[in-house]
Amino acid sequence: RAADLGLSVALIERHEKLGGVCLNVGCIPSKALLHAARVITEADEMAERGISFGKAKIDPDALREWKQAVVDRLTGGLATLARQRKVEVIRGEARLSGPRTVVVGGREVSFASASLAAGSSAAMLPELPDDPRIVSSTGALALPGVPKRLLVIGGGIIGLEMAAVYDALGSRVTVVELLDQLIPGCDADLAKPLHRRVSERYEAIHLGTKVESLRPQKGGVKAQLSGGQSATFDLVLVAVGRRPNGHEVGAQAAGVEVDPAGFIPVDRQLRTNVPWIHAIGDLVGGPMLAHKASHEGKVAAEAIAGDTAAEFDPRTVPSVAYTDPEVAWMGLSEVEAREQGVEYEKAVFPWAASGRALTLGRDDGLTKLIFEPASRRLLGAGITGVGAGELIAETVHALEMGADAEDLALTIHPHPTLTETVGFGAEMELGTITDLLAPRRR
Ligand code: NAD
Repeated sequence: RAADLGLSVALIERHEKLGGVCLNVGCIPSKALLHAARVITEADEMAERGISFGKAKIDPDALREWKQAVVDRLTGGLATLARQRKVEVIRGEARLSGPRTVVVGGREVSFASASLAAGSSAAMLPELPDDPRIVSSTGALALPGVPKRLLVIGGGIIGLEMAAVYDALGSRVTVVELLDQLIPGCDADLAKPLHRRVSERYEAIHLGTKVESLRPQKGGVKAQLSGGQSATFDLVLVAVGRRPNGHEVGAQAAGVEVDPAGFIPVDRQLRTNVPWIHAIGDLVGGPMLAHKASHEGKVAAEAIAGDTAAEFDPRTVPSVAYTDPEVAWMGLSEVEAREQGVEYEKAVFPWAASGRALTLGRDDGLTKLIFEPASRRLLGAGITGVGAGELIAETVHALEMGADAEDLALTIHPHPTLTETVGFGAEMELGTITDLLAPRRR
């Protein structure tokens, strides 16, 4: 964006390929593996419906190669885009060395403006033994093979996405989550269908539980859980959150403020306390999501190019767990509404009443819409079910446009689709639904 606005741009990257965590060791490789997982489980489930393919034969080397080919195609595309825009790509790890200079591989580069986008790193538990069988998401995505027994520490998004992959590949999965719900960041009713499905498939799910210790042994890593149970695993994935890399960019030398947790405070133009240095993405707080970071990056570039009106001020940043079923939410959640004392009405359309969901053999979903009672303006939404990550986009658009229940209900959704569930939810709010018998609200 900065290059398109006429600025002369250098991009410094320590990884051999462009694209950051999301593209190289995050969103993209995980989604390739999750697609493979979905194909395996869908094929298995068709056996009850008259079509049997037999047990999947898994070639981890070929799967790894395919996943890497997907990543390489995208990272290669970024290198081409940078070249086409005459963005100079400098390889190496950068540290600010003064208010207008950065040092990379012994070379000093000076700048008029900078945008810090150094991201975050996987948080690890204290006193973890150093053992190749204890890995972060990067290690799990490398697909070191298919462990017989996998322990996932952290029932958040990364933990559950990787659990879905290894479960489909044939591992027996145990999940240990500190809090009392899977994906504690979303409303409980959205997490429930996921919990129900994985509790039938996985070896164990321990909520409200801590891993007291991990002891590497010859036959596996022995985990001692806070409830007194212990078990031995072939692979342990630690997915307990991520920490911003704010302390790793030499911020002090430039006078850029960093808080003790490693976040860099910024204003709505993503400007740090040093007016010509901006920061974006996981470094600045808020949800650690690629789509938030890329929007912020554009705003920072526009602000640097002199656009005084550019600001990052979305109504919401949607969240999606690409688990099976997927869990997606945006805007105001019920938990937040209760915490903030916001009055709301909700309409929940169960996928058991969706023809499309039944034809997919997956009625284990729900579409929940949250409205402002007086105006019936959409305030938030949550969707659990196959493809929820795609479906949530309609509600994000509706929220951005200030849509109300009538706008959604009078929008003709194609039949039969899962998108209809958004329209049906709005009809439930209005009391005009005929697809099920819902109590009239007023
Ligand atoms: P997370 O915050 O989503 O989940 C971490 C989980 O670990 C939480 O549920 C937490 O309660 C639990 N936990 C913390 N300490 C624990 C302990 N000692 N024992 C057991 N459980 C413990 O973080 P994540 O899953 O590691 O993901 C990191 C970041 O990356 C998040 O911001 C996430 O949103 C982002 N991410 C997003 C996507 C996506 O958009 N699909 C995918 C992957 C990662």
